[in-house]
Amino acid sequence: MVIFGSNVFNDAVMKERLPKATYKALKKTIEEGRSLDPAVADVVATAMKDWAVEKGATHFTHWFQPMTGITAEKHDAFISPTSDGKAIMEFSGKELIKGEPDASSFPSGGLRATFEARGYTAWDCTSPAFVKDDSLCIPTAFCSYTGEALDKKTPLLRSMEAISKQALRVLRALGNTTAQKVITTVGPEQEYFLVDKKTFEQRKDLIFTGRTLFGAKPPKGQELEDHYFGSIKEKISAYMKEVDEELWKLGVSAKTKHNEVAPAQHELAPIFTTTNIATDHNQLTMDTMKKVALRHDLVCLLHEKPFAGINGSGKHNNWSMGTDDGVNLLDPGHTPHENEQFLVFLCAVIKAVDEYSDLLRVSAANPGNDHRLGANEAPPAIISIFLGDQLQDILEQIEKGGATSSKTGGLMDIGVNTLPALPKDATDRNRTSPFAFTGNKFEFRMVPSSASIAAPNYITNTIVAEVLSEVADRLEKADDVQEEVKAILVEYVTKHKRVVFNGNGYSDEWVVEAEKRGLPNLKTTVEAIKALVAEKNLAVMEKHGVLSRVEMHSRYEIELENYIKTINIEALTMIEMAKRQILPSTIKFATSLAASINTIKATGVAADLSAQIELLTEVSALSAALKKNIGVLEEAVEKASNVHGDTYEQASLFRFDVFEKMGALREVADTLETLVDKEFWPMPTYGELLFNI
Ligand code: ADP
Ligand code: MG
Repeated sequence: MVIFGSNVFNDAVMKERLPKATYKALKKTIEEGRSLDPAVADVVATAMKDWAVEKGATHFTHWFQPMTGITAEKHDAFISPTSDGKAIMEFSGKELIKGEPDASSFPSGGLRATFEARGYTAWDCTSPAFVKDDSLCIPTAFCSYTGEALDKKTPLLRSMEAISKQALRVLRALGNTTAQKVITTVGPEQEYFLVDKKTFEQRKDLIFTGRTLFGAKPPKGQELEDHYFGSIKEKISAYMKEVDEELWKLGVSAKTKHNEVAPAQHELAPIFTTTNIATDHNQLTMDTMKKVALRHDLVCLLHEKPFAGINGSGKHNNWSMGTDDGVNLLDPGHTPHENEQFLVFLCAVIKAVDEYSDLLRVSAANPGNDHRLGANEAPPAIISIFLGDQLQDILEQIEKGGATSSKTGGLMDIGVNTLPALPKDATDRNRTSPFAFTGNKFEFRMVPSSASIAAPNYITNTIVAEVLSEVADRLEKADDVQEEVKAILVEYVTKHKRVVFNGNGYSDEWVVEAEKRGLPNLKTTVEAIKALVAEKNLAVMEKHGVLSRVEMHSRYEIELENYIKTINIEALTMIEMAKRQILPSTIKFATSLAASINTIKATGVAADLSAQIELLTEVSALSAALKKNIGVLEEAVEKASNVHGDTYEQASLFRFDVFEKMGALREVADTLETLVDKEFWPMPTYGELLFNI
């Protein structure tokens, strides 16, 4: 395919355009993590610029991922004036490897005061540069003047080094002499909604918050289950095609597309790649989805819960780890009970997830996701692992003294001679599990649709690195490695089997059972955020050099502030809509009812006016309740906004007071929507938003 990667300064382009020695030196940095020689950077910069200019680029930008969760870019022209009044296109190695954006306007959680503005971006040569919108985009890490990470990429890169180091120690102890590096990989499945742009523009809530804050249930929702994998409408199909093409040019291997469960909901999945590149690519994917939608008079909603009452969106983070010589360490093979290496890595993941489930939970927490987790459409807020029959059976054998057999799937007989006999997988799937083993990878299904996948990945990498380091410590000291492996497996299975759950994660029984097992159930973002400053978590992040204590504290502050700001914006938007749109409309409607009553009475006809009178009474009572609830919400916002100094307390007030009162206001408004004449209702309804494409 000619267009694939056509806008990427990828390996093939580098090979073609860089002098041999430069190419080799750069590859060493990319593949072996050696530091980069400035002289090499100069040569690369010139080649990159020439290539980008041929692609039509006039500017370059350091492309980075601050704590806002989206990407940031500041564009500079290649242009450089010459003494004769003309200009040449220039780009130096220095400009390639280092940028200096103002750090004070990005969230730093107290790490940077406004006057301490200096921040740096540093070239991440492990993720290829690309041309987008006439700019050469250089993926970079972003840190403060004092070297603290201010972004999502830095800890991710650090975590990849950490897990590689520890996994290699384990592999060496098990006798592997060939692997030089262990790479973590991810394929994130991205869910999204598409709505008509004109309809979108009539909803202040969608414009300001990305989700509907009001909206009665339409007559039809997702109950017929007719949208999932349904035939794709032409308008949507044209959109998807263009998204695919734009992504392919950027080297993003968008592969699968289909309609999702909810009406107007869809999904895009790429082919997996290293966690670093996959994270960059997922940002590009979200960005591209939004931009292309506008070209089709659509708006792409990435919010976790744009509509109440129907499914929201998530991102399935399919995570695995493998060696640089191509061995997937989570591939069980045909006889997993004999696959010692697999069992060690599997049990390490189980232990890591059990011990640090609170960290994993917070890595998937944001205000939008609070509407999903535990709401019978997404995994519960309780972290557990699905393994399936085959592995469950092997773990039970291990616990009893040693695994001697692996169950197999066999062949499946469909009962029709002309259909092929399908080999059956050894395990079924489980859509209700937050952390499900799916053949040769784990699918972390809690991740929020709008968020960067960096945190779920750097947390997973770090906690698994920690357990692998414990395994390595033991194996390196052991006289009999085989015996020690057995001892480790028995111990890990016995101690951590509580986190394994193969049943229905959506059921109420599981909530009760999980509590008995002592598994945390951190229902809201605010509750989950505490994990960022728990001592054991600070210690593990520090030990593996992924985030220092100071950096963790700053992230804790940033997450709380983000929560507060999000709910505050939502509450203010609700108040404005209720006051200036909904209440005036209901009053107008009531007035029209009153007018009708008076007009008919004036005719002297003995008509039955009970319909108008009852409706008028009901609408007036609800309007009064609406007005009252607006006042209650205003007071709650005022009170929460006036908390100073204690961010946690303030966030708690926003969650447990403001947010609750938003729900009460919505309920009244949604009831009114079902009563008020359609002509009077001030905004498009759910029916119009979800079924008009
Ligand atoms: P399913 O339909 O089982 O969820 P797919 O095979 O379509 O799965 O995979 C879903 C995602 O998982 C895709 O993005 C795919 O590239 C990714 N994936 C497959 N193998 C791996 C792996 N070893 N590491 C990370 N992601 C993987
Ligand atoms: Mg999947």
